[in-house]
Amino acid sequence: MARYRGSVCRLCRREGQKLFLKGDRCYSDKCAVERRGFPPGQHGQRRGKVSDYGLQLREKQKVKRMYGLMESQFRLTYKRAAHMKGVTGHNLLFLLETRLDNVAYRLGFANSRNQARQLVRHGHVMINGRRTNIPSARVKVGDVVAIREQSRESEQIQIAMEAAARRTVPSWLELEAKEFKGEVKALPTREELTMPMQEQLIVELYSR
Ligand code: SF4
Repeated sequence: MARYRGSVCRLCRREGQKLFLKGDRCYSDKCAVERRGFPPGQHGQRRGKVSDYGLQLREKQKVKRMYGLMESQFRLTYKRAAHMKGVTGHNLLFLLETRLDNVAYRLGFANSRNQARQLVRHGHVMINGRRTNIPSARVKVGDVVAIREQSRESEQIQIAMEAAARRTVPSWLELEAKEFKGEVKALPTREELTMPMQEQLIVELYSR
């Protein structure tokens, strides 16, 4: 699966806000958004009028980058959301949030969604006791997401879990840190997604 290999801090600077793509560094004063809070590139510091299309595009890029998806995966997720009952924008965020890699990140098994994706890809994560190596696998209410017993000694996972203590686990998940597992207690609601996202702009963009 294709993935972005460039500098992730550039992505945050382009979107003008922290997307928390780099783990610990994002919480330190080394964060590129803190140090150079303007878009990257030769013309990054120029200000111009942003069109409606520009706003919609930036919002889509921001959410896509935050969850670490490529355009084709994101568009596919949007199409799925559009076919579901309810508000398309909310469905989209709900589908993104219930991906296995995101849940592993939210539970604190990894410092970033990229790292969580790698954990899943390398077979360190289980759903209901079964090893799953598909980062886009969806979790349901009652599912238990855990780190495989053989992987619990991993230094990377232990460091991530220590660092994750400063993040709050969302209320729809229940973490048992000592057991390296967490249960999906409910499905996330829009109110629980606290990162600033204007999903309506994404719907407008794809409805053009
Ligand atoms: Fe974004 Fe983190 Fe880099 Fe800051 S340190 S710019 S939040 S990826």
